[in-house]
Amino acid sequence: MYSLLIKNAKVIDGISDTARIADVAIQGDQIVNIDDKIDTGAEKIIDATGKILAPGFIDIQNHSDSYWQIFDNPNLSSLITQGFTTVLIGNCGASLAPLLSHDALNSIQKWHNLEAVNINWQSFSEYIETLAKQKFACNIASLVGYSTLRRGVVGDQIRGLEKQEMEALKKVLIESLESGAFGLSSGLSYAHEIIISELELFELAKILKKKDSLFSVHLRSEGSEILEALDEALDIARSSEVNLKISHLKVKYENNWPKMQDVLGHLDTAYHKGINVHFDSYPYDTVWQVLYSYLPKWAIEGGRAMMLKNFADPVQKNKILTHLNNSFSKFPSMMVASTANRLNFMGKTIGQIAKNLETSSEQAVLHLIQNGGSEVLVFEQNLSMDQVGDLIVHPLAFAATDGAGFSENVSNKLVHPRCFGTAPKFINLAVKRGLSMQQAIKKLTSGPAKKIGLKKRGEIKIGNFADLVLFDQNNLADMATYENPYQFSRGIEYVFVNGKAVVAEGKITNTLPGYALRKV
Ligand SMILES: [Zn+2]
Repeated sequence: MYSLLIKNAKVIDGISDTARIADVAIQGDQIVNIDDKIDTGAEKIIDATGKILAPGFIDIQNHSDSYWQIFDNPNLSSLITQGFTTVLIGNCGASLAPLLSHDALNSIQKWHNLEAVNINWQSFSEYIETLAKQKFACNIASLVGYSTLRRGVVGDQIRGLEKQEMEALKKVLIESLESGAFGLSSGLSYAHEIIISELELFELAKILKKKDSLFSVHLRSEGSEILEALDEALDIARSSEVNLKISHLKVKYENNWPKMQDVLGHLDTAYHKGINVHFDSYPYDTVWQVLYSYLPKWAIEGGRAMMLKNFADPVQKNKILTHLNNSFSKFPSMMVASTANRLNFMGKTIGQIAKNLETSSEQAVLHLIQNGGSEVLVFEQNLSMDQVGDLIVHPLAFAATDGAGFSENVSNKLVHPRCFGTAPKFINLAVKRGLSMQQAIKKLTSGPAKKIGLKKRGEIKIGNFADLVLFDQNNLADMATYENPYQFSRGIEYVFVNGKAVVAEGKITNTLPGYALRKV
């Protein structure tokens, strides 16, 4: 007697290039049998005729920690309803541990208001112990964020490291990796990381290589200097032989779009030279951006206090306004997704806000940054959907949300629709662009599992964990929009995490069978 039997499914196992119609039996948290026909009884039997059974999806680029959703919404509803069964958090330089000082957690304040948070850990080991006591709808693996680590030492200062500081950081990184972190992430375009040298990154990469761990890099530039930024990351991977993954790869702004061909060319060349590089990408043409990141680099060096000081100085302020004016950003059409202080600007464009304030769009940007707290986020359409399609079908690509698991009941902010719709939108787009369903599924399952070093997940195989998604290809669709993101995807009928249904008949079951994973 099995605990669960899924019958007559079109099984796409995440590895093979073919599909097979089969029955899949689950006992407890494991896949125990796969055969053309299984007659043994089961506590629950699902007739999956006409449906695809795939390994549970793995989100290699997830921010459910930086938006605090792993604590506020352990159901991670917007992710499980897309079929995600494991997420990798701690991305873009920001993780919730290790916290070497009180300042360390400031690395996430651009995404979440920290005033009300309650923390009882410092080391990564204590953090993972805390997570181990909690339950989640899906499994959670975490990287160490380098900004979190570094700010624990230098605080709000933006400067190079003394030799002994670097040694101390390396020691803590090693301890964190030994207590279960899957690697390190870096957010090189953010205020506290833009000054980090290639040499410093190389030192970290060497440790990661030694520990067989992932290096997840948010590039220094995704616009005019994308090629230099990409080459820097590839250089580090070449010299250190680290396992490199580039986060949310894209080329922003129409005038830079012609660079895409070279971006893909440099990646192909690197890969063929044996560099261990992949990237992830989300299937949307609009970015979800921290508003301060549009300011010139010099204006944000020194942290928020220094930035506000620059705003107050008429000469500096003018220089900032000129920079914004000369940038390619379309400020008037940007939509405000969220602000900290309930400015009531959610869903308004910066153009509308400027009109209400009787000022220019550039002045309105400064007004928002100044009065909206540190977590002003906007939507800006600046990618080419055609190029997004080229990216996600590329052999080195994984599909990932770069989002977080939100419930459908958030009222005080807009989130990017990718938090709700990435997997279905990606599958439909990839198939339309010529990938087979098997190839598309690999980019969500065995591909990321191998890259991260997740054992016994990402493939439908006897002895593996029963992380599974059952969906109806004919009905598969993302529903979330920028104006109304809180809409679950369609067509995902069952999602199993460690053998338990978190989605059944298209509905969330409110079961929490997921747990914190440690790299072993
Ligand atoms: Zn990032």
